[in-house]
Amino acid sequence: VSFQDMKLSRPILRGLSSLNFEDPTPIQSKTIPVALLGKDIVGAAVTGSGKTAAFVVPILERLVYRPKKIPTSRVLIICPTRELAMQCHNVAKRIAAFTDITLCLCVGGLSLKVQEQELRKRPDIIIATPGRFIDHVRNSQGFSVDNIEIMVIDEADRMLEDGFADELNEIVKLCPKSRQTMLFSATMTEKVDDLVRLSLNRPVRIFV
Ligand code: AMP
Repeated sequence: VSFQDMKLSRPILRGLSSLNFEDPTPIQSKTIPVALLGKDIVGAAVTGSGKTAAFVVPILERLVYRPKKIPTSRVLIICPTRELAMQCHNVAKRIAAFTDITLCLCVGGLSLKVQEQELRKRPDIIIATPGRFIDHVRNSQGFSVDNIEIMVIDEADRMLEDGFADELNEIVKLCPKSRQTMLFSATMTEKVDDLVRLSLNRPVRIFV
C-alpha cells in the first residue's frame, strides 16, 4: 500500500512528499494503519527502518483530524538521547510543515528556562529525553501531562540499559491511563517486557 492508500490527509501527504518519502517502508506499512485505529503497539524495529515516520505519521494525522480548541500538550515522545530526540523533532517538524501543529524539543544542553516557557505554551507534541523531562515535571510550574493522548517510548531497550527505568515508570504513571502507547525496541529483553506490561494495554506486536 502507498501513503495515499492509507487515506492520510493532504497536509500530511504534502509533508511526506517534501521529504521525498514516496512509498512506506515495511515498518511504516504495518504500523500506521494499526496506530490510526488507536491501538497500543509494540514495534520491533531498529534505527534506519523508518520507524520515526511510522509513529509520527499516525500521530500527526490524529492531531489534524481531531483538533482541540484550547492549546494543550497531547503527545509525548520519549527518546534515549539528545541526538535521537533532535532527529525525531526534525522529521516530525518537516512532516508537520503544512499543518499548524506545534512541537517542542525538551532535551539536556538547552536552557531549562527557555524550554519551560515553550512548555507553558502547551505545544501539541513534546519530544523529550527521560532525564530532562523528569526535571521539568519536578521543577516547572504551569505545565502538565494531564491531556496526553498518545505516548511513544522510542528505543526502549536502550533507555533501560542506560538506567532510565525509574524515570520511564514515573513518566508512564503521570500520563492519563486512557492514552494510546507505542513502544519501539530493537531487542525484546526481559526489562522491555516488564515495561510493556506496565505501560501498554493489549498491544499489537509488529515485527519487520
Ligand atoms: P529512521 O529509522 O526513522 O531513523 O529512518 C531512517 C532513514 O530512512 C531516515 O534517513 C529517513 O529519512 C529515511 N526514510 C524513512 N521513511 C522513508 C520512506 N518512506 N521513504 C524514503 N526514506 C525514508
